[in-house]
Amino acid sequence: MAEKIFIIGGGPGGYVTAIKAAQAGMDVTIAEKAAFGGTCLNRGCIPTKSLLHVTSFLTQNYSRMGISFDKMTYDLDKFRKWKDSSVRKAVLGVEMLLKKNGIKILREKAHVVSSGKVETETGVHKADRIVIASGSNVIIPGFIKDRDDVWTSDNALELSEIPTRLLIIGAGVIGVEIATIYSRLGSEVHLFDMLEKPGGADIDTEIANELEKSLKAMRIKLHLGKAIKAIKGNTIIVEGEEISGDRIMAAIGRCADIKGRHSEIEIDTNTKKIRTNKEYETTLSRVYAIGDVIDGPMLAHKASHDGVRLIDLLNGRAASSGEMTSVFYTSPEIASSGMTESQARDSFGDIKISVFPVSANPRANCTKELRGMVKLICTEKKLIGAHIMSEHASEMIWAFSYFIKNGTDIDDIKETVFPHPTFSESIGEAMLGLEGPMLHL
Ligand SMILES: Cc1cc2nc3c(=O)[nH]c(=O)nc-3n(C[C@H](O)[C@H](O)[C@H](O)COP(=O)(O)OP(=O)(O)OC[C@H]3O[C@@H](n4cnc5c(N)ncnc54)[C@H](O)[C@@H]3O)c2cc1C
Repeated sequence: MAEKIFIIGGGPGGYVTAIKAAQAGMDVTIAEKAAFGGTCLNRGCIPTKSLLHVTSFLTQNYSRMGISFDKMTYDLDKFRKWKDSSVRKAVLGVEMLLKKNGIKILREKAHVVSSGKVETETGVHKADRIVIASGSNVIIPGFIKDRDDVWTSDNALELSEIPTRLLIIGAGVIGVEIATIYSRLGSEVHLFDMLEKPGGADIDTEIANELEKSLKAMRIKLHLGKAIKAIKGNTIIVEGEEISGDRIMAAIGRCADIKGRHSEIEIDTNTKKIRTNKEYETTLSRVYAIGDVIDGPMLAHKASHDGVRLIDLLNGRAASSGEMTSVFYTSPEIASSGMTESQARDSFGDIKISVFPVSANPRANCTKELRGMVKLICTEKKLIGAHIMSEHASEMIWAFSYFIKNGTDIDDIKETVFPHPTFSESIGEAMLGLEGPMLHL
C-alpha cells in the first residue's frame, strides 16, 4: 500500500511537496486554510512582480527613443486587474496540478495531534508522514501593533490608494520593491532602516552602494543608519529628523507561522522557527517541516527546493542542498548566489574578485540601461560568489547556483560562449577578469 503523507499548507513549499510526493507514488492529502499558492502567489512574488512590470512603463523615457504621445496617463483599476488576473491564473494552475496528480484537497485549517495524526475542522486524519509547510506572516513593530491604518506589504499590494508621501520602515527586499512600485506611481517614498545601506544584512556592500544610487535615481528618499525613536500619528521620528507622511508601511520582516504545531515540536529560541535536522525532521518523529517555517532564507524557491529534497530523501534518493539564489526585482535587478566579498574574505582570506561594469556591455548600449555590474568572487580556482546588478539579472543567476554548489573550476567555465549582444556577455567578461584582462574594458 502507498505510504500516506499529509501536508499542512498549500504555499510553494506545501503544494510542490504534494506534487513531488504524488509523482513518487505516495498517497497525498494537502490542507490549506486560505488560498492555494500561499504568500508567494497571493500576497508576495506574483502580485509584486506583476505590479513592477506594469509600473515599469511609467518610467521609460519615450521621447528619448523618438516615441511621443500627448500625455501619459494610467488607470489604477486596470493595474489592479492586471495583478489580480496574474494571481488568479497562478492559483487556478496550482489547484489544477494538485487535482491532476490525484492529491486529496482539504480547504481547512489543520494541526498536528501526534506523530501520525492530524486534525482538521472536519475530522482526524492518519498519515505515515506529516509535513508542516505553514509559512510565515508579516511582523508588525511593537509600537504600531495596534494601528490598523499602518500598511504591510499585504495592504500595499491591494493598490487601494496612492499616498502622496509613503513612509516605509525597512529597506530590505520587500521595502525596496514596494518603494519602487509606489515611486513609479507618483508617491514621494521615504525608506527608513537601522542599517547603513539598503538591501538588508546579507547583501554585498559594493552592490548595496549601487542599490543606494539606483534608489536615489528613482528619487526615493533614504533615512539609513538610524533607529526609529517614535512614531506619532503619521510622523516618524528618527535621530535628528521628523518626517510626516500620508501613510506608513512596515516592512521589517516576516515570522514563521508556528500556530497549530504539536507541543513536542521544538522551536529554535533564536530564530523562532521550527527546529529540524538536516533531513527536515522535527523533534516529533515522522513529522517534517519545510519552507519559511524553518531556518534559512524566506524565499519561494527555497521552500519548493526543501519540499523536492524532502521527498527525494524519504524515497531513498540522495539529495544534497542546492546553492541558494536571491533577487531584488528593482531597477536594475540585483541577483546573487554564494558569498559576499566580506564573507569570502572572512572564510578564505585570499580571494580573487572581478567586476565588469554594465556600462561597457553591448546590449546595455542598445537599451541605454547602463547601471550595474557583474561581480564574481573566487578562491584560487573555484567560484564562491556571484552578484549581478543588471537588467534581467534574475534570469542569469541560476547558472551560478550550479557552478558554486559544484565547486566548478573556473578553467571549465571561462570558455563558455555567450550570445551577442546580450546582457549575459558581462558574465563572460567578468570570468575573464578573474585570471587576466577583460576584452571590452
Ligand atoms: C511582498 C512579498 C514579496 C515576495 N517576493 C518574493 C520573490 O520575489 N521571490 C521569492 O522567492 N520569495 C518572495 N517572497 C517570499 C515568499 O512568498 C515566501 O518565501 C514563500 O511563499 C514561502 O513559502 P511557504 O510555502 O513556506 O509558505 P507560504 O507561502 O506562506 O504558504 C503557507 C501556507 O500555509 C497555510 N497555512 C498556514 N497554517 C495552516 C494551517 N494550520 N492549516 C492549513 N493551512 C495553513 C497558509 O494559509 C499559506 O497558504 C515574497 C514575500 C512577500 C511578502
